[in-house]
Amino acid sequence: MVDCYIKRTMRLIKTIKQMRQWAERRRRGKTIGFVPTMGALHEGHRSLMRAARRRCDAVVVSIFVNPAQFGPNEDYARYPRDLKGDAALCRREKVDVLFMPTAETVYPEGHDTKILVGRIGEVLEGAVRPGHFSGVATVVAKLFQIVRPQIAFFGQKDYQQTVVIKRLVRDLNFPVKIVVCPTVREKDGLAMSSRNRYLSSEERNASRVLFKALQKGRERIQEGERDSAAVRDAMTLLIQEQPPARIEYAAIVHPDTLMEVTQIEGPVVLLLAVWIGKTRLIDNLLVKP
Ligand code: AMP
Repeated sequence: MVDCYIKRTMRLIKTIKQMRQWAERRRRGKTIGFVPTMGALHEGHRSLMRAARRRCDAVVVSIFVNPAQFGPNEDYARYPRDLKGDAALCRREKVDVLFMPTAETVYPEGHDTKILVGRIGEVLEGAVRPGHFSGVATVVAKLFQIVRPQIAFFGQKDYQQTVVIKRLVRDLNFPVKIVVCPTVREKDGLAMSSRNRYLSSEERNASRVLFKALQKGRERIQEGERDSAAVRDAMTLLIQEQPPARIEYAAIVHPDTLMEVTQIEGPVVLLLAVWIGKTRLIDNLLVKP
């Protein structure tokens, strides 16, 4: 029975059929809140579960390391997996259902449909990780169909992902409200991420530079700098001073369209993707001048 129940209170479901049956029964008059994740859960995920708990009658968390959103040379095989720790954390957060389908369940033999994301999925992350957002959108659409939540919770940590998902929901008419929760950070500012566990202690030190650079960018804007090239230079200079850090992109974009901004006149998002040794980290900050 370990497969079906963990300490009576939380259901562990692995099949689509069971997940659908649960949602069908539970949905009548009740709000289902959904938190999709790839596991190796941390405080960032936990904040989404808490937001869901506050707003919904029932909370479903999924853990699925989605092969479709990883490129051929990315870390799919070594992505951290910690079922026991994750289940315990979900139980502590009073999650009702932990949905953990296998890759074969989600993508059975012959699966041949993908969601194509337009320009907003082709810039920034999409430019360096081709097909990434198609993989994300496809799996999120599938999960929405299976779990049938009224509200789904995503982290601002993956800013572009929130824009892509909001657009997906709008364009394909999903009856799901998307709630974006603030980025949870370590005390020194590093955004929490499952990938932080790849960092050596020296790299962990160096990784603080991402948030420092974002803060520097914000500071420059708040001091009155309106030329986004100057703001970007201030951020990149700081990162370049940190030897194991290598910038993949540093961008200043419009929060909804993700179009590059040259003159800062309204709210912008500062976005960074930086390699620290062999680990790729992303972070962002929404700034209102
Ligand atoms: P992941 O397991 O990395 O796919 O993340 C699952 C969800 O948790 C996504 O909506 C992420 O944006 C969100 N998330 C990851 N890290 C954080 C964080 N540090 N703060 C807030 N949300 C986060």
